[in-house]
Amino acid sequence: MAFPFDSALDQSTSSITRTLFNRALWLFDKLFEPICLLCRQAPEHQHSLCAGCERSLALNKSPCQICARPLETGTICGKCISNANHFDHAIAPLLYREPVSHMLRALKYHNGIAFARSAASVISEAALNRGAKKPDLICSVPMTTRALRKRGFNQSALIALLTGYRVGIPVSNHLLRKVRQTPHQSDLSARERKSNLKNAFRCQRRVERRHVVIVDDVLTTGATVNELARTLKKAGATRVDVWVCARTE
Ligand SMILES: [Zn+2]
Ligand SMILES: [Zn+2]
Repeated sequence: MAFPFDSALDQSTSSITRTLFNRALWLFDKLFEPICLLCRQAPEHQHSLCAGCERSLALNKSPCQICARPLETGTICGKCISNANHFDHAIAPLLYREPVSHMLRALKYHNGIAFARSAASVISEAALNRGAKKPDLICSVPMTTRALRKRGFNQSALIALLTGYRVGIPVSNHLLRKVRQTPHQSDLSARERKSNLKNAFRCQRRVERRHVVIVDDVLTTGATVNELARTLKKAGATRVDVWVCARTE
């Protein structure tokens, strides 16, 4: 359907003016064409990256069907066979290698907020293409108020917002709260990580019979999302999935 003002514009502009106007528009488009967030040289192709940078992303081609850990053989990893997770299914389309690790570190520690767009685009494309079960709600990994003040933003909440917008699912970044500061998971052993997080989170309201998705940037041991999934299920959730951009190996 034509816009109501189209015919009026046609009548008042000569063909030369119109040609000049179209040239100016073309030039404007060329000058302000979105460029790749990573190399800053080539035009944007997908996930806010150029075609070359997009090809350099390492795909998580054979993930564990439960926790998305990259596997050499089989469909479910040893850890998931011997140890039941509280979350039901994880999606992690990429491997945490360069340049993904660079992008996610930049997002987290160097205010590279624009990379949240790339992460959300990768996550939503994977969720839609793989026919992931449609959730009722998306939430993010919370930070304590103190940690939030220090960093200034929560990268998980940013990615969750953008992902929810892309897939058309409501987002609640205040559903989960971190109620106490915990030592960095990376400084602890696997056993210490489990007890470190016990009762560190609180669900702010009941989520009876809801299917909830936790969105984050990267999945390492899965201890944090596992504890969050436990918290959500205690609050009534029937299913908890995890959608992240990348998985460590
Ligand atoms: Zn590029
Ligand atoms: Zn697994």
